[in-house]
Amino acid sequence: MFDEVNQLISRCPLCNAGYRVEDAQIIETTDESSTVYVECPRCKSSIMAVVAMSGMGMISLGMVTDMTREDIEKFRLTPSVSGNELLEMIQLLKRQDRSVVRELTKETDVY
Ligand SMILES: [Zn+2]
Repeated sequence: MFDEVNQLISRCPLCNAGYRVEDAQIIETTDESSTVYVECPRCKSSIMAVVAMSGMGMISLGMVTDMTREDIEKFRLTPSVSGNELLEMIQLLKRQDRSVVRELTKETDVY
């Protein structure tokens, strides 16, 4: 799954710098989706993305976050506390509504 994730999330939405494999960190992987954290090597902005399999194939939903790698570690340790937002994103993906996914993907400055 990681290769597909890396293909979908290959560029920083803010400065357009290409990501390297080592910039991406898988937070959580399930059968249906992967949650990935990527830190841009150029502008240092952080992106949280959910990549999911759907009837349309692979789709990704990304948003800029100010979470740091340390926060991510905490997040991994306590997924039930801070996972609500991600669960909502995954629910949106499961609805397979392309327009919703596109809208959210455009809003890159929404935290
Ligand atoms: Zn960047």
